[in-house]
This record gives sequence, structure tokens and C-alpha cells, in this order.
Amino acid sequence: MFKKILIANRGEIALRILRACKELNIKTVAIHSEADESAIHVKMADESICVGPASAQLSYLNIPAIVTAATLTNADAIHPGYGFLSESKRFAEIIEEHKIKFIGPTSKHIGIMGDKIKARRIMRDNGVPIVPGLHDVNDINQVNKFIDEIGLPIIIKAASGGGGKGMRIVKKNNELKNALGSAKIEAKKSFNNDILYIEKFISTPKHIEIQILADAHGNVLTLGERDCSIQRKHQKLIEECPSLCLEENERQEISELCRKAMMSIGYEGVGTLEFLYDNKKFYFMEMNTRLQVEHPITEMVTQIDLVKEQIFAALGEKITKKQDDILLKGHAIECRINAEHPETFIPSPGNIKQYYQPGGLGIRVDSSIYQGCSVPPYYDSLIAKLITYADNREDCIKKMKRALEEYIIVGVDTNIQLHQKIIQSDEFITGNYYINYMSRFD
Ligand code: ADP
Repeated sequence: MFKKILIANRGEIALRILRACKELNIKTVAIHSEADESAIHVKMADESICVGPASAQLSYLNIPAIVTAATLTNADAIHPGYGFLSESKRFAEIIEEHKIKFIGPTSKHIGIMGDKIKARRIMRDNGVPIVPGLHDVNDINQVNKFIDEIGLPIIIKAASGGGGKGMRIVKKNNELKNALGSAKIEAKKSFNNDILYIEKFISTPKHIEIQILADAHGNVLTLGERDCSIQRKHQKLIEECPSLCLEENERQEISELCRKAMMSIGYEGVGTLEFLYDNKKFYFMEMNTRLQVEHPITEMVTQIDLVKEQIFAALGEKITKKQDDILLKGHAIECRINAEHPETFIPSPGNIKQYYQPGGLGIRVDSSIYQGCSVPPYYDSLIAKLITYADNREDCIKKMKRALEEYIIVGVDTNIQLHQKIIQSDEFITGNYYINYMSRFD
């Protein structure tokens, strides 16, 4: 077992990883920026070390400072969480060079699957259906030919994309040139890589993703799907597991294709394969080679601790469970609670003056805030994940309604009321909601 793990992250996910380490008797090192000195993950860790000023670029993304922190504290592994450096091939490589274990896939796999064009090719070659697309956008004749074939709208995407950056929807021919130009600039600025590709724009699909768990011995399990179709500006807001729209045979079919594709590349650790689902057809979009924000809902229905599984996989342990042992039991929903203005969606940092979190059977709150703490303006506005679990979807929604009512957060604006509206809307209740659901609030 690892003796000490450095957690290269902040907020709720740092705390989530820390909890798993404590249960496994592993010592923890928290890193933090100057703005996060009094953050809860810092208080709860065995050791902590400041890696730079408030700006994420200078602290949570500061590879030399983080590697130095790991060396100074004798950490034998680093867990990157999600966001920040979790999908940085370079970070994983440097850690490997320092003989520290990166808790995640190998740098090689991050490199391959982190490139969306390469990932599309791999999945296509393994018989996984992908969104119809064009990989070379430099030849404008090819682009026009593609548009003639599949019709408008199309979506321009960045090969190294993430967080919805570098994406442009093109509805008219005369928008194409400007959209390609501005997507290229945004991609270069955000990912230092301006390679773009184009996909057919599917207007009202669902976003369905499959959770993968793999070991270093060629064993791969799939842990069901998550429906993440409630999104704002391509960012997920509510997720649920299982999805109401899938029949059991569809779940099994797509899961098996994913399992085989991951076996073919020798993937290790946890990962998520993201799909659009339209008219009963799946279209692969991309893979996330890390733990997802929404992982708790899968944990609730499978009763598998994904962070512990990541640690076991990094240790080289064999998965003992068989695919047939994986049962999805009950229903789980996650609402992402953001510190933001309920109508303008503008982030709302500040001090938490009052805090009371919901409880009771089937309620899980993954959060790093507490009464008296501050929500700094420098990072993501996610402050809590409210997860409910029940035997069936109806009860799960009722629990969510009750839990949202109980939740008291004073000092910053939040989207709690918005969640109440969404989960009580007809579309949500019937399951007939798609990725464009939130456009009504724009
Ligand atoms: P990122 O990695 O930047 O988050 P994704 O490829 O995961 O980008 O896409 C994020 C979201 O953007 C999807 O969940 C979906 O809502 C929308 N999207 C992406 N590709 C398409 C497409 N081809 N058609 C329609 N919507 C899309």
C-alpha cells in the first residue's frame, strides 16, 4: 500500500480523495495556494504545503512546485483529482520520471485519448459508433464537401478541447470562416494546440457516458451509464444514474463495445467514455482519462468506491470482480451547487456567513465549504455536490426536492432555486430532457 499520497487539487475533490486515503490508512499531503490557506482540505490533511499565489496558473498548475512538494514530503504517489493537471500528459510523465506513482492512466494513454481526433479513430477502429466528422479542417474544399454531405449545422471542436472551450456551432455557410478563425485562437490560448476538427451537430441528443474501471492486467469493467444531459454552456449541472432512456440491451451493448475498446488499448485506472445518444443511436464524442465530477452517482448505484479503486489500480492490484458481479441497484441524482447568480450565472465569490447542509437517509453532500470559510474568486464556482439515492427514481427526486429545501447557504448566491425548478419540471420528471434543456434560461 502507498504510505503517503499528495493530492494535487483543492475543494471538494481534494477532500473526497483525502477521505479515501484515511480509510486506507494512507497519510496525505495537501497542496494549496495562498488563497486557500484555511481551506478544509488543508486542515484535514496530515501535512500541507503552499505551492504558489492565488492564480491557478502559479499554484495548482505549477508543475515544478507540485513535484518539489511531493519530493520534500516523501510522497510515493500523486492523485490529480479532476481539472487542473489531471489530464496533463506532461505532468504524468514528469511524475513517472521522478519515480512517483501518478494515480491515473499512464502518460501514454492520457496522450492518446486526450487527443480527441486520435480517440475518435481508436474508437471507430474498435467498432464503436462515433459522431460523423472531418479531421482535417485545413483544406476548405474538404470542409465544404463535408458540409454538403451531412448538411448544417456543424460543430467545430478543438482536438485538445475541454470545458467547452474552442467549440463553435456553425448554422450558416457564411459563419464558417469566422467560426474556424475564432475557435483556432481560443484553442491555442486554452490548450496551446490549435488543431481543430468538425462534427455533425446533433441538435437534441442526450449526453450519456459510460464509466470504465481497468487494472494493469488487462481486466476492464464497465460500471453503467450516467445521463448528463442537463447542461449549461456545455457544462453539466445535473446528472443521474441510470438513465431513463436506455433499455437494458442497449446498456449492455454499448458497455461491451466500450469494454473491448479499452481492452484493446490496455487502458488502466478509471475513465469515462462520453456519447451523444439520439434516436436510439450512440455517437462517441470523447474520453475523459480521469475521475469525473459526477462519479458519486455511480458509486451510489454500484456501491464501488471509485477513488479507492483508482488507488488499487495504481498499485497494480488485480480487479477481482467480474462484469456479472456489477449490478446497478436503485437510482442516484447529483445536483452541482455553484456559487453563482441564479439568473445571470455570474460567479459569486464571498464569505459563507451561514451554512447548514441537508442530511438523512440517502443524502450525500460532497463539499468543501463550512460556516466562516471564504469562496475565493480564482477557481471554479462549484462549491458542493448534492447527491440523493433511493430505491427508485421517483423517491430519489422527492429526496432531492427535500434536500434542496433544507440546504442553507448564506453569503454567496447559489443555483439551489434553479435546481428546484429543474427537478420539478415536466421534462425532468418524465425523463424527456436533452442537452438543449437549459437554453430556456438564457
Ligand atoms: P468538452 O470536452 O469541451 O467538454 P465535449 O466533446 O465533451 O467537450 O462536449 C461537451 C458538450 O458539448 C456535450 O455534452 C454536448 O452537449 C455538446 N456537444 C459536443 N459535440 C456535439 C455535437 N456533435 N452535437 C451536439 N452537441 C455537441
